Amino acid sequence: MVEQYDVIVVGAGFGGPVAAKQCADSGLHTIMLERSKIPGEKVVSGLVIPVYGFLFGPEFIREGNPPIERPIRSVMNRFVKNGEIYASDHSLRLPAPFTVGYSTYCKPFCIWLADRAVDSGVELRTATTAVDVIIENGFVRGVITDKGEELRSKIVIDAGGTQNNLSLKAGIRKKFVPEAIELYMIWDFEMAKEDVDSVFGNSMEFFHAMPDEKIGAPLGYGSTLYFFTYRDSIHPGLGQFLVTEGKIPNVAKLLREYFDNFTTKVRRWREDIAPKVKLRAVTWDVCPIYAGLIPEMRKMPYFGNGMLIIGDAAGFESAAFGDGVPSAWFSAEIAAGVALESIKAGDTSKAFLKRYGDRVKADPFIMHTITDTRRWDMREVLKSKSENEHKKRIRDHWGIGAFRYKYMGGPCLKATGRSIKNDPGIIAKWPEMFRRYYRNWEENRFDRLSTD
Ligand SMILES: Cc1cc2nc3c(=O)[nH]c(=O)nc-3n(C[C@H](O)[C@H](O)[C@H](O)COP(=O)(O)OP(=O)(O)OC[C@H]3O[C@@H](n4cnc5c(N)ncnc54)[C@H](O)[C@@H]3O)c2cc1C
Repeated sequence: MVEQYDVIVVGAGFGGPVAAKQCADSGLHTIMLERSKIPGEKVVSGLVIPVYGFLFGPEFIREGNPPIERPIRSVMNRFVKNGEIYASDHSLRLPAPFTVGYSTYCKPFCIWLADRAVDSGVELRTATTAVDVIIENGFVRGVITDKGEELRSKIVIDAGGTQNNLSLKAGIRKKFVPEAIELYMIWDFEMAKEDVDSVFGNSMEFFHAMPDEKIGAPLGYGSTLYFFTYRDSIHPGLGQFLVTEGKIPNVAKLLREYFDNFTTKVRRWREDIAPKVKLRAVTWDVCPIYAGLIPEMRKMPYFGNGMLIIGDAAGFESAAFGDGVPSAWFSAEIAAGVALESIKAGDTSKAFLKRYGDRVKADPFIMHTITDTRRWDMREVLKSKSENEHKKRIRDHWGIGAFRYKYMGGPCLKATGRSIKNDPGIIAKWPEMFRRYYRNWEENRFDRLSTD
């Protein structure tokens, strides 16, 4: 059976529902396919979405009541030597209700996003995988599902994330190279809300050390050990790139070793945290965080005849912080706008869709964040082994220095100017969002989900 749509969106993670909703709001007949039974189920368990995603991303999120776990108001950087914390940097902290980001579990957040898309008229098919693309005369004309259905459309938006090869099948992109990919191990611990409040407050916490300490990957070859804090749980997480100093180590084994070392040596864990937590789950995932730093990856297209690629599938994760939700949202909005224009013009050619590429490049954040070398450059500290240089770079990365003009300050100013030009009323809406999100968190009251 052949079914015809204007737009097929593949993937109901963070980016897909935003693109699908905007297409449907513009009057396009839109379907969204999701391989898992419930949106968000196949995305990483939980994360912290930086605030710039909310401020400059889709209006319906900013003005809605999505299920957040904890407003994150500060970053606590701890420096560890010989198993002891010898210095801390808490320079990045904001007064309530302002935040640097919001922690959330992916499942409820993606359900909330998909619910908004369905409210706008999107047909959502879960437990349905797009296994191939339909190509005719060099144009993507739809997808084939795992059930053998043939779904046809004028445009396919690939929002299928990292572990999805539709754009490869369409001949538009190639596989991510191993140097770009970080393997993550994440521990999900229950912790009573009062304990999270007293031990961490509204902070997320990072533990930085030189490689000899073996509580994390060599500098620049992974993420430092981080603790994301939720309402009544915490996630320590560790990551390392599949290729480290030109070699392919057994990363899965190393990550376990680093965490074992941390939990046996560091007093902050043994005395403040361990007595109050209970392990619930251990999860693994991969992220192509350095895709924007590797020229052959960065140069790969994210559009072709009849197809637009957004979010992780296009390699839009930030190289310095590993966050990808803001760029998934920004690229989703750009893609939906271009899909509408191309369908109206009756031209879905690569030449027409080039405007998607141009707008992605003109976005204040996407290119800036995927080419940020701060994390990669940490490897230089390895050579000098200088503690002072290490601390200085951490302050510029995870501390107050993150707001310097050449880092996030410049893009934020540019995006602020652009947003005010488009809608001067946004100046009042931003503080209102901070207040409402904070109140929602304090009262633990969010929009009901379709799965409740
Ligand atoms: C360990 C880890 C930690 C992270 N931490 C953060 C963080 O703190 N902050 C942050 O902003 N970002 C973080 N990220 C990145 C973030 O998860 C992604 O950037 C974001 O989810 C990208 O959104 P997306 O819509 O492109 O893809 P996804 O959210 O991955 O969604 C893709 C969806 O497509 C579905 N799908 C895939 N293939 C098909 C198919 N063929 N047919 C149908 N459905 C399909 C999947 O099931 C999934 O639901 C983290 C990622 C990892 C792995």
